[in-house]
Parts: sequence; C-alpha cells; structure tokens
Amino acid sequence: MRVAINGAGIAGTALAYWLSKMGHEVLLVERAPELRTGGYILNLWGVGYEAVEKMGLLPKLLELQYETDELRMVDSRGRTRGGYPSQVLQSLANGRIATLARTDIATAIYGLLDNRVETIFGDSIVTIDDDGAHAHVGFEHAPQREVDLVVGADGLHSKIRQITFGPDRQFEYPMGCHVASFEVSGYRPRDDNLYVAHTAPGRYVARFPVRDDKTLFFMLLRNEYLPGTLITGESERKAALTTAFSDMGWECPAILSALEKTDGIYFDSISQVRMDGWTKSRVALVGDAAACPSLIAGEGAGLALAEAYVLAGEIHAHGADLDSALKHYQRRIAPYATRKQRYAQSLVPSFVPKTGLGVRARDLATLLMRLPVFPKLLMGRYFRDAMRMPEYGMYSPEARTPPNSPFKPSPLRGSI
Ligand SMILES: Cc1cc2nc3c(=O)[nH]c(=O)nc-3n(C[C@H](O)[C@H](O)[C@H](O)COP(=O)(O)OP(=O)(O)OC[C@H]3O[C@@H](n4cnc5c(N)ncnc54)[C@H](O)[C@@H]3O)c2cc1C
Repeated sequence: MRVAINGAGIAGTALAYWLSKMGHEVLLVERAPELRTGGYILNLWGVGYEAVEKMGLLPKLLELQYETDELRMVDSRGRTRGGYPSQVLQSLANGRIATLARTDIATAIYGLLDNRVETIFGDSIVTIDDDGAHAHVGFEHAPQREVDLVVGADGLHSKIRQITFGPDRQFEYPMGCHVASFEVSGYRPRDDNLYVAHTAPGRYVARFPVRDDKTLFFMLLRNEYLPGTLITGESERKAALTTAFSDMGWECPAILSALEKTDGIYFDSISQVRMDGWTKSRVALVGDAAACPSLIAGEGAGLALAEAYVLAGEIHAHGADLDSALKHYQRRIAPYATRKQRYAQSLVPSFVPKTGLGVRARDLATLLMRLPVFPKLLMGRYFRDAMRMPEYGMYSPEARTPPNSPFKPSPLRGSI
C-alpha cells in the first residue's frame, strides 16, 4: 500500500516505522520545518512500554532514561510538604517503567526510519479526495499524490480530522486547564534526580534536571488564570504565564525570568479528543488526533505508540482487506483508550486543586504514598493496563519497492 501520514510526532513516526517495515510505501508529512523537539519528561509504562519493546527500541530508550530519586512537593517558601520516592512508581509498574524526555522518544523513533520513509517537512496535507478506491491528497506546497490510505497523526488539533470528520469543537473536550513546558540551560538550583513541584490554587509549576546542564520546566494552570483574549504568539504566552505565576513564591521569579529568555515554549489546552469513529473509507486517525487522553492521563505517548502498533498490525493481519483492518483497529483499542480518558477526567482536581485546602490535602495524600498499601490504593488504577497487546508477527525480510514508486524506500534492516 501507499500510505500518507500527516504528522511526524510520536504516533506518526511509530506508524511509519511499522508500515515501512512491512514493505508498504510510506510518506510522512510534517508541518514543522524539522522534527519537532521539546516537551516535558514523561513516564512510559504498560502498553507504551510494550510497544517500544516490540520496536526493538527499549535498550536505546533505557540508555536515555532519567533516574529519579524522589518526587517532592514544596510550598511557597520551598519547604517540603509532600511527595514520595520514585521507587513507588517502579513497584506499581513492576519495574517496567521509564522516565524519558518526549524529545528523546520522538528522536529515537525517527532515527529508526533510517531513510526508509520519505519525509516532507514544512508541509501539510490540506485536501483529501477519497473515491473509495484511492485517496488523492493535496498539500500546502507539494504536488498532489494518489495513495491507498491517509493517516492523521497530526495531534490534538488534527487537520486530517477537521477535513474528514468535522471541526475541532465536535470532538475536543477541554478540561479547563492549559499546559506549558520549556527548557533552560544552566538554571540553579539543579537538584540532580529530583522532580520538584509547587502548587498554588489553580496553578502548578515543576522543574526537572536533564542532560547538558538543562532544566525542564512544566506549568499547569486553570483557564481562569489566563487572560480572556486569544493567546497566539510566543510573547503573549510568556506574558500570560508571567501574570499567572508571578505571585506564587518559591522559585517563580527566577523561573519566569528564565522563561523570558527562552524560545520555543510548548503551550496548549489540556483537552481530550472523543470520537465514535476513528476511520472513514480510506482515512484513519491515530494518537492524539483520534483519542487524546490529555496529559492528565500520563499516557498520551504510550497510547499513541500502542495505537500505531495495532493499526499497522491489523493492516498486516487483513492483507488487502483495508476495510476490515480499519474496523478491527478501532474495535481493539478504542475501549481501552476510552477507559483511560474517563479515569483522567477524575484526576483533574488533584492535579491542579482549586483551593489552598485542596492543595494541602493533595500534598498530604502524596505523603501517604510512602506507606505500604497506599500506593496501590491511590494510584494502582493509574498503572493498571487492562489490555494485552496483540501479536501480529510483523516481519518483512525485505522492502518491496514497486517499479514506479515516487517514494523510493530504501531496503529494510533488522527484524523483530
Ligand atoms: C513539540 C511538542 C511538545 C510536546 N510537549 C508535551 C508536554 O510537555 N506534555 C504533554 O503532555 N504533551 C506534550 N506533547 C504532546 C504529546 O507528544 C502527545 O500528547 C503524545 O505524544 C501523542 O503523540 P501524537 O503523535 O499523537 O501527537 P504529537 O506528539 O502532538 O505530534 C503531532 C505532530 O503532528 C504535527 N502536525 C500538527 N499539525 C500538522 C499539520 N496540519 N500537518 C502536518 N503535521 C502536523 C506536529 O507538528 C507534531 O509533530 C507535545 C507535543 C509536541 C509536538
């Protein structure tokens, strides 16, 4: 098959990996001028951990993972008010969990493609003319192409979803908060292996030290702390964050001054995407585009990896019957994604409590995590993955390059 994937994030690159490995011709289209880096650290466990294991990427990611000793909650004067050793999370995930920078995951997966996949940067699919037998895709810049399947892996605000299924407002469920993350060099204090967070009513800020003397910052805020006007450019983002976090104490003055000097802030609404159908004729959605669980679920990247694996696997299992493959793809994984979304909704109040009392109660609850039994009671559900990843036996000894292919994939290497 000829497959055009819009979006070279986690889902898009993972799907490109699997499909190209099976010998399909893959075209990856990314709006950004190069592979997007940035974003915060995340924990990969459950289906996401299994998915990278199946890709053969686990050893590399384990090399890139960050050791964390403790997650510490501090008050406005920097005094410890809550938190627990990271070992607790390791135990809950039976040791199968890795703390990784989003950038490292995206870069590692893209590295696996190794010229097997044609990638167009700085462009986007903007039209799809799907006649049932083929799809003719139009780009912002590149000339039109004919493909057999178009995949929207273009994130929360997916263009492919808009073109094929309808406007964002039909499917996006904002959870009342925004997220910002950015990276700063040489920030002090550094506190190796320590995740430190400070919460005030409606706002949360955390820092984590990463390689090359850099520190990642992560901010969450309820929408009532944002200005009522539309925030579009980077300077407006900085101004909005500065206003919202300036009275929070702790290291906020230093963090905001570092923010001022930084380029490339990740800033977005915390939303879920809920849809009845992820596929239509020759179009499919994957990752956040299909079923964003929101960062509150802590598993957006993991789900995206699992969905990419299952979509590729079902295509492999059903051969030429694309219709059945797409139906099975959604049937297999959508109930699992929906459960994750429901659970994430229930967690918003504890991530960003509205009141000072709520903050204190949440911090106290994190201290209970140090005692036996409580980790399972409080966070057991978060780590429970009620889905077994199917085995598809996806392996192709060599790529098949049709004689007149415009995609020119290079030969496959390695096996699973
Ligand atoms: C730079 C960046 C930083 C992030 N940081 C965080 C974070 O700190 N915390 C967090 O919880 N989540 C973050 N996310 C989101 C997180 O990566 C996803 O929720 C999760 O990994 C699911 O991945 P995805 O591939 O579905 O979507 P994403 O990782 O969002 O990838 C979507 C890709 O599609 C591209 N794209 C978007 N629109 C178009 C278009 N019209 N045409 C072509 N390409 C398009 C984007 O540039 C991006 O590369 C970040 C995403 C990005 C891109």
